[in-house]
Order: sequence, then structure tokens, then C-alpha cells
Amino acid sequence: MDKDNSLLVEDRECGACTVCCVNLTIDDPALQKLPGVKCKNMIKAGGCKIYQDRPKTCRDWYCMWRYIPGLDESWRPDLKGIVIKRVFEDIPQGYENKIALDFEVIGPKKVIHDTDFINILAGYITQGFPCFLSYGQPRTAATMTFLNNLLLGPIESGNLELVKEKLSAAFKICVKEKKDKIIIKDGKIEIIPVKNK
Ligand code: SF4
Ligand code: SF4
Repeated sequence: MDKDNSLLVEDRECGACTVCCVNLTIDDPALQKLPGVKCKNMIKAGGCKIYQDRPKTCRDWYCMWRYIPGLDESWRPDLKGIVIKRVFEDIPQGYENKIALDFEVIGPKKVIHDTDFINILAGYITQGFPCFLSYGQPRTAATMTFLNNLLLGPIESGNLELVKEKLSAAFKICVKEKKDKIIIKDGKIEIIPVKNK
């Protein structure tokens, strides 16, 4: 049975966005796909060759733009250059009761200084939602950097330049940190941890 999608924003559709068909790691009995690699079922002109029979993971997964009414059309991941994902692991102590959000940069880096991005992020951080910035490369696990501790002070003091500086530093960590490799072996997804992180 498919997941209950009643929490999705009404009348909001993916449209031309196909980000999750490239970005996601899919480990479904019917399909294994590495992150950052186009799914073999994608149609060049857009869409899915096996849409009616697509795997359960594809039926169930939506980015947070599909759930959060306050994010306008400009936040569609292919347009914004950021895909927001819900995070269930590595949530720091004290934040476990709030929904954790990962803002994964999938387009040009300049988006981290986008005023709209900073305003939305600042709103979540001041409300105590755990927020991460992340960046991945094909076939690797994205590196996530926890933002609340870094940004709460500068946000509360209204120091926009310092917020931008801290975001640049967080992004640098995401880009530079060595990433675990992800492979498909015998029809299963395996993570190969990087030594000397
Ligand atoms: S099977 Fe279809 S919906 Fe699923 S990732 Fe591939 S192209 Fe996208
Ligand atoms: S990333 Fe979000 S908007 Fe884009 S195709 Fe996937 S669910 Fe739809």
C-alpha cells in the first residue's frame, strides 16, 4: 500500500523537476540507484519510463518542498538549487523532538547567500528546528554540517554578513570533507567508509 500523502501541499506538483530521480540513493527490491546518478528509467524529455510501475521508494518519497506550504514555487529544487530532505539520523541532543531538515545544495554555490534561503533557514533555526547544510558528489554520501550552533547567535543579533560568513565556512566543510563511497554490489547498496576522515 502506498504511503498516505495527505500531508502534501494541495495542488503542488513536481512539474518539470526530476531532482530526486538523480539525487536519491534508492535501495528498493525493484531498483538500486546511486546518489547523483541518473536513474536508468528517466526519459530524456522528462518523466519516468515505468511511472505506473515505479518502485515503492519512488512512490513514497517526496522532498520537503512538497510538504511545506510556506515555501513558494521558487523553492522547487531544480529552480532553487537546493533540495530539502527530512533527516532521521545524527540529530544532536536537545533537538530530537523537532523535525530535522537537511538543505542539500545541488546547484551553484551562490544559493547559500540567497536572501530568501537565509530568511527561511533563519526562521527554522530560531524556532529550534535542527537544520543541516549538505553537499554530495555522485556515488558518495553527502556531508552534512549542523547549522544551529553556528548560526543562532549571528541570526539573533541580525548580523547578516556573519551569517553569510558562517554559511560559507559550513559549505566549505561539506565540500572538502572526504565522503563515504556508495556502491552497488550483488544487487545491494553498500557504503564504503572513507578512512582518515
Ligand atoms: S524509477 Fe522512475 S520515478 Fe523512480 S527514480 Fe527512476 S525515473 Fe525516477
Ligand atoms: S525533488 Fe521534490 S519536487 Fe523534485 S521531483 Fe522530487 S519530490 Fe518532486
